[in-house]
Amino acid sequence: MHTHDHSHDHPYEPDSDLTVPYPSSRGRNALGRRDLLRSAVVLGIGAAGATIAAPASAAPAGPAPTDASPTRDGDAPPSLAPDPEAPADAPRGALAGVEVAAPTIASCATWGAAAARGTIDTVSTNPNKILIHHTASANVTDYSQAAGYQIARDIQQWHFANGWVDTGQHLTLSRGGYVMEGRHGSLSRLRNGSGTVVGAHAPGQNSQAIGIESQGTYTSATPPAQLWSRLVELCAYICDQYGIAPTQIYGHRDYTATACPGDVLYSMLPQLRSEVAAALAGSSWSVIVDNTSAGFAAGSSWQTSTFSAERYGASYRYATPAEVSDLATYSATIPSNGSYRVEAWFPGIAGYNTSTPFIVHTGSGSSTIRVDQSTGGGAWLSLGTYAMTAGTRTVVAVSRWTQGTAYVIADAIRITRL
Ligand SMILES: [Zn+2]
Repeated sequence: MHTHDHSHDHPYEPDSDLTVPYPSSRGRNALGRRDLLRSAVVLGIGAAGATIAAPASAAPAGPAPTDASPTRDGDAPPSLAPDPEAPADAPRGALAGVEVAAPTIASCATWGAAAARGTIDTVSTNPNKILIHHTASANVTDYSQAAGYQIARDIQQWHFANGWVDTGQHLTLSRGGYVMEGRHGSLSRLRNGSGTVVGAHAPGQNSQAIGIESQGTYTSATPPAQLWSRLVELCAYICDQYGIAPTQIYGHRDYTATACPGDVLYSMLPQLRSEVAAALAGSSWSVIVDNTSAGFAAGSSWQTSTFSAERYGASYRYATPAEVSDLATYSATIPSNGSYRVEAWFPGIAGYNTSTPFIVHTGSGSSTIRVDQSTGGGAWLSLGTYAMTAGTRTVVAVSRWTQGTAYVIADAIRITRL
């Protein structure tokens, strides 16, 4: 939010620009010292834009599918299960009749925040908007929870160095899609849908805008799919809890002279508003495409089996690994732009492939998820949540392009609008 306001040429070095006010042409010529401190950049974080995090290419004719997406073995984004910290009797969201899933949000204690170094001001009025930031930190490719938590701890220390009492923003999103509380007290008030803590993320807006920091730098890089999906869900939840219209989602630069949240992420804000609106509209839309469904297609090398009782429906398909473009595909009609969970069902037995590539097509890109099919079958396995565009197309494909000789399995997939 602030680190991007100035040069990144001197990471970890204090910024000397503390006393330079914002351009008066933006109508902010009367900022107090406190605002200036809050808006100034003191520390940079590594090399900005060091890594481009475009979704993994899944072109079947290309090289073996890459593996930039979370795998199922402990590296997947958090589920949408209600946060155990949420009071059981938490008031309903302010938008009556809308059911928005409460995302898992790691509290300050969970990610290991240091204690605040002073009094955190609070307001009893609800915030009226959301401001999107990026941290202008390196676009790490470690999408693990631990990595996200570590960056959150780093951010807090940088904000302490700014002279702030605590992390500046209310909420933080990691590149792997983990959501964290920012400033102490933000989470409990969000869960209650009443009031907030005064942040330090945008002068003039700190008591009325929820600040969300997206870890990374999005001046030219695109946010990872996991981050984007979670951002949509998080914004929908915030809007629901506080009664904020999805049109009231802005970028930091809309209120402060700054590059934040980067040209690419800023250009995606209309899409964000649209997807949040769709999420708020609510839906129980879901579709299952089995290997016997009309939406399924596969070549003759994909043989049919009824061997495992863990199959979905009457049968499933299997094939040997090969470096060929020979996908089993699942076509579906995505009814609207929005956030969707994609799941796969397959029989998981020893002797099946431990790294089967599942390719998810969102309509604007694709991600490859490696799935261990030697275990954990006979149930829906989440391949993640994705921001998808409306339309009929192949949404999921299973590739033979992987290692070993163990069969890759294509059984059923389920797509659910969130
Ligand atoms: Zn910002």
